[in-house]
Amino acid sequence: MRVILLGPPGSGKGTQACRIEEKYRLPKISTGDILRQAVRSGTPLGLKAEAMMRQGLLVSDDIVVGLVEEAVQREECRRGYVLDGFPRTLSQAESLVRIDGRRTEQVIEILIDAEELIHRLTQRRVCARCRAITSLAAKAPRGGELCAVCGGNLELRDDDRPEVIRERLRVFSAQTAPLRDFYLNRNVYSSISGKGTADEVFSRISGLLEGFLSGAAEGRRS
Ligand code: AMP
Repeated sequence: MRVILLGPPGSGKGTQACRIEEKYRLPKISTGDILRQAVRSGTPLGLKAEAMMRQGLLVSDDIVVGLVEEAVQREECRRGYVLDGFPRTLSQAESLVRIDGRRTEQVIEILIDAEELIHRLTQRRVCARCRAITSLAAKAPRGGELCAVCGGNLELRDDDRPEVIRERLRVFSAQTAPLRDFYLNRNVYSSISGKGTADEVFSRISGLLEGFLSGAAEGRRS
């Protein structure tokens, strides 16, 4: 099975994708993480993507579709995978059908209001050393602005600056929100509330996934 997490920036897709990976053994494919790693390493891909990412705009479909095509062919993705941050345009969704169209899929959109998103994104920090994500609001980070996992320095993501956040939310409404209808028409769309703690959101997602997995097992038996 493939799980696609939809939702605006700051809705918690990355955090929830990690939890799905852990509990259901579905490897996470995060196009944002792959691109950020490429930018940090200064690869040709990173150089191409960096300017768009800094402005909160989408990197070209060709680039991200190429990344996903490569990732889904890995042996570890044979049983399935969870997509975080892809697809983000109708053209990417159509490409996914071409790349791996026979796989069953479930799309879960995490719904959350704009005010809460802006609050979360401005509080979000990433550890410069281990890349763990934390929130200044969740609990006082150890020693002020230090990572609770490894003690590294916490930093604000370049695209979590207020002016870029506004642009990313605009891009989501214009280019990604139309995917709802695409997946509704394919009968694979569900949504849950993104309010509350990460544990609360994950228990809503798990509830949905358990239903899908037992439905799939029923289907195989009959
Ligand atoms: P994310 O971490 O998913 O919020 O992604 C950070 C940034 O990476 C986005 O604002 C885009 O610039 C770029 N990006 C990530 N995934 C995609 C995608 N599927 N299509 C285009 N650009 C993407």
